[in-house]
Amino acid sequence: MRLHLPSIDHEELEEIREVLASGYLTQGAKTQELEQALAKLTGKEFAFGMSSCTTALHLSLVALGIGPGDEVLVADFTFPATANVVVQQGATPVLVDIDLDTFTMDPDNLRARITGRSKAIIPVHAFGCSADMDPIVQVAEEHGLAIIEDAACAIGATYKGRPCGSIGDLGCFSFHPRKVITTGEGGAIVTDRPELAERIQILRNHGGVRTGYWYQYEAAGFNYRLSDVLGALGVAQMRKLASLNAQKRTLAKQLRELVSEIPGVRPPMDPPWGDHIYQSFVILLDEGLDRDRVVKELRNRDIEATLGTYAVHAQPFYQREYGYATGDLPRSAGAFSRSVALPFYAQMTDEDLEFVAAALKIVMQGAWKWRQRLSTRAG
Ligand SMILES: *Cc1c(COP(=O)(O)O)cnc(C)c1O
Repeated sequence: MRLHLPSIDHEELEEIREVLASGYLTQGAKTQELEQALAKLTGKEFAFGMSSCTTALHLSLVALGIGPGDEVLVADFTFPATANVVVQQGATPVLVDIDLDTFTMDPDNLRARITGRSKAIIPVHAFGCSADMDPIVQVAEEHGLAIIEDAACAIGATYKGRPCGSIGDLGCFSFHPRKVITTGEGGAIVTDRPELAERIQILRNHGGVRTGYWYQYEAAGFNYRLSDVLGALGVAQMRKLASLNAQKRTLAKQLRELVSEIPGVRPPMDPPWGDHIYQSFVILLDEGLDRDRVVKELRNRDIEATLGTYAVHAQPFYQREYGYATGDLPRSAGAFSRSVALPFYAQMTDEDLEFVAAALKIVMQGAWKWRQRLSTRAG
């Protein structure tokens, strides 16, 4: 059973066919339509299609003017791109520990890591679960910091009724195939701030400003555009977003019930502050169990499980460059070593869910036995 399957059908093909027939393949009308749909969904004034969420996060930092000497506070339990873009700007990523119930940035740890050089905060809405934004916004306001929401996995998720990605100064989304909706590769930025929007618009397209028939180059910009072929995919995918998310919330409830009685397994839950959309269904194993072996045994049973995501501070680059040691951020380190992402996507049937849960139950029985054997040997 695959870890993830995007929901693609004839609608995407029809949208792409129009673009191919038009002969105009780079960013154009379809990407604009996708941007309008994203602006509407998030209630933001400006939306920009981007080549990925990584380039969206990077351009957000550039638009904010973040560079050498600046510190950016980044949730540690995330795909490393969230922190890599800070390094790319010559700024220093300051990694912040998480809360284990939601896998999102711990506001108290955030507060403890603020310095005079702090410039921005990047909270991550992990696996489709909103971070606790109110206390994060409060810290940002107290210290005059910008907020870039990494909503790569959270299109359509909410925090106290507000869409994820719409709360900070900038919100970034991903359309990678493992995310909520996909364009193959792609991403987007939303914002309400006109001066940031203007910079993003110009820098996304080489730094050019149109003057009559051609451009004048006002900055040394990037090519971070989203092709209209991919924009067309996004238009069709956006139409399905609400139903995909609703379906997955129902499936998540079912799968949670199936696995919640298994000893040593803590399934994901809705946070007290909003709707989790379960981009991934990530369980946390009890301490002392061999997670890697659980994943391997699941794979032996044709279930493509994997780890939840990465603890950035435990990656060789961050240890070498910034002196982190694994465990410096203990809850993120725990999530990195104890989380398992189970196969989860909208087309899963009741039988699929039962197959996954039954296999997990058997594998977990084994996990407790290995632990016993290990502790007997150690004792
Ligand atoms: C996938 C992901 C990214 C990177 O997205 P791309 O579109 O693949 O560049 C960034 N942050 C998080 C939390 C992600 O899950």
